[in-house]
Amino acid sequence: MQSTSLPNNEYWFIFQNDRLLFMKNSQYQLPANDVLSNLKLHFLRQHKLGLFNKIICYCAEIDPQILLPEDIEPIPLRKALDILSIDWYVAATKASSIINWDKNHQFCGRCGKATQHKPGTFERLCNTCGLSLYPRISPSIIVLIKNKDKIIMSRSPHFPPNTYGLIAGFVEVGESIEEAVHREVKEEVGIKIKNLHYFGSQSWPFPDSLMLGFTADYASGEITIDHHELEAADWYRYDNLPGRPSSSISIAQKLIDHFVAEQNKSTYNR
Ligand SMILES: [Zn+2]
Repeated sequence: MQSTSLPNNEYWFIFQNDRLLFMKNSQYQLPANDVLSNLKLHFLRQHKLGLFNKIICYCAEIDPQILLPEDIEPIPLRKALDILSIDWYVAATKASSIINWDKNHQFCGRCGKATQHKPGTFERLCNTCGLSLYPRISPSIIVLIKNKDKIIMSRSPHFPPNTYGLIAGFVEVGESIEEAVHREVKEEVGIKIKNLHYFGSQSWPFPDSLMLGFTADYASGEITIDHHELEAADWYRYDNLPGRPSSSISIAQKLIDHFVAEQNKSTYNR
């Protein structure tokens, strides 16, 4: 993404109906100064995100009823993250999360009264009962399960055609991350795993996950699919995978790329 058309080293991540606004007539830049002043008239909320790549970033939400200027295009966040360079992933995902937090915590969940934003923070406070409301992060696990040169790939009914992913799910209250991995694998495909290793993590703002990636080895059992969660799951060799994850920047893709590279290297060295 280029910064040439934006003045004062400011970037604005502006959302309307959960879509991020881009300039239509350029190479997908964020809204430039000449349209920004007009858009600002219709902001429902705005927050300073902080400094990213030496540029001060802000996020805002624009009234869903407002007709956008012709040179502005609203793009779903998932596609927007593919468009923005990886350098802007953190700023864009934070922008989305902050807007959702602010929108969803206008009222206190305990006493029902209106909350107030505490200036300079990402905190909304209920002055009636004292409850503080922060942006929520939901830890989720994703695991690449290996058996020699094969891995388990699976499809949920809501996946786009020809896309496959890895076993994943939310961490439940009361359990450790490791327990969550073993439980999800057992629930979704009915097998046991061993040698669980942490791989890395990724913020995944759909809507508020923090994905914790793992690799594991097959231990025992036959694949038995939970058809409430999955429509397909099976073992696939590294050079004959059935499809890719729906997002090229997902940690699922990184886990798979890492496994395939390892296999190619060991084949080469054989
Ligand atoms: Zn309250």
